[in-house]
Amino acid sequence: MAIATINPATGDLLKTFEPLKDRQIATKLDLAQQAFDSYRKTSFAKRAVWMQSCADILEQDKAEFAKLMTLEMGKPYFAAIAEAEKCAVVCRYYAEHAADFLADTPVKTDASNSFVRYQPLGIILAVMPWNFPFWQVFRFVAPALMAGNVGLLKHASNVPQCALAIEEIIHRAGFPPGVFQTLLIGAAKVADIIADDRVKAATLTGSEPAGASLAAAAGKQLKKTVLELGGSDPFIVTESADLEAAVATATTARMLNNGQSCIAAKRFIVVEAIADKFEKLLLEKFQSLKIGDPMSPDTDLGPLATPDILHELDNQVQACVQSGGKVLTGGHVLSRPGNFYPPTIITDIPPGSPTEQEEFFGPVAMLFRVRDLDAAIKVANATPFGLGASAWTTNERERDRLIEEIEAGAVFINGMVKSDPRLPFGGIKRSGYGRELSIEGIKEFVNVKTVWVK
Ligand code: NAP
Repeated sequence: MAIATINPATGDLLKTFEPLKDRQIATKLDLAQQAFDSYRKTSFAKRAVWMQSCADILEQDKAEFAKLMTLEMGKPYFAAIAEAEKCAVVCRYYAEHAADFLADTPVKTDASNSFVRYQPLGIILAVMPWNFPFWQVFRFVAPALMAGNVGLLKHASNVPQCALAIEEIIHRAGFPPGVFQTLLIGAAKVADIIADDRVKAATLTGSEPAGASLAAAAGKQLKKTVLELGGSDPFIVTESADLEAAVATATTARMLNNGQSCIAAKRFIVVEAIADKFEKLLLEKFQSLKIGDPMSPDTDLGPLATPDILHELDNQVQACVQSGGKVLTGGHVLSRPGNFYPPTIITDIPPGSPTEQEEFFGPVAMLFRVRDLDAAIKVANATPFGLGASAWTTNERERDRLIEEIEAGAVFINGMVKSDPRLPFGGIKRSGYGRELSIEGIKEFVNVKTVWVK
């Protein structure tokens, strides 16, 4: 894939970038290692000043960063503003808490003094997707840099200007040169970088094939990885649910980021008793959404990020229809410039059909009717993924069963699945492994050193 900015709302090619040559990559690796040798000795207090400064820059210049995000990947401008603000929040969170999270932890043993110390590992490679082009990077950067590691970013090839802007923010914030560098490279270069002895670990947010490929390359080198991959999150609605609230949230949860979020609600599993009403209300909501220019403040749904994503989504919808699914609204590519797909609802998907098992990365909702809670939990878990789940009930017993029995990295009751710096984020099954955010996130890339003194 060429490294380029192509406006997804128009299809216009705006800027192309030459990928780094091998010797330029080598120079950046040298600089990263030199940076680590001194950066690892800086205090938490010093790192916190730089990280707070990142937050200040993100807040001050959010309009500029938001324009870049919308231009390169098409998310509505208001959502891009919110993304820049959320990045500032995660920077401040780790600036304030990293020293406590990574303080020596005393443990009583037969020693006169024994404790656990958390030390940085070195250069960490982050391979990131375009869908939240700032947030995905900052949720890696904030804990990794506060822990004393240095970062190399291989961003998605369609968001090079976002990637360079992030490098610039970290530089402007005062972090020493080399502590964070963007590598404009294609995916084919990733394995070589992982093989470099100085690179100690890697993290990837993206699709299953990309995750498997990175993990295989890292496995060969016995290096640790964290993988944040796809999801096909269930959104379960029981008879006792507040239906109006559930439908409003269902719409937001499916359409967020033009439908391109790993933790978007993708499979709506509704008990039969309220299914007709839910379907009618959801249909009304979907049909009321305004599709258009993502820069315009009254646009609800912008374009998909690339023509490939648009066509892949449409192919999935057509395959679903072929297997017996019924389209209630939408269901075809819009004939206008840009990568626009309408809000789509599919029902009557036969159990066990191949598309039922896939992730729809766009504004397409799969609606399943089930007899009762037992059946709802069964359908919710009948997926290779296990990222998040949202479930709606006012019944305590049902709530407890959902919390206990849903196979996912997160369960949200009467709310939409979202990431929050204070809570761990990550999946099970084919959604990946490891956690980002919270205390768990900062401990992924440290040496947990046992110290025992007689
Ligand atoms: P993608 O194609 O996997 O790309 C993600 C990143 O991986 C890009 O930087 C890409 O580079 C790189 N990449 C692709 N193939 C690679 C390989 N073989 N080896 C190493 N790197 C490789 O994913 P996407 O289509 O952009 O993103 C959508 C997917 O990401 C969805 O499945 C979504 O659910 C998932 N996602 C998960 C989370 C989460 O937190 N769990 C968050 C957001 C998105 P190029 O751009 O150069 O190909």
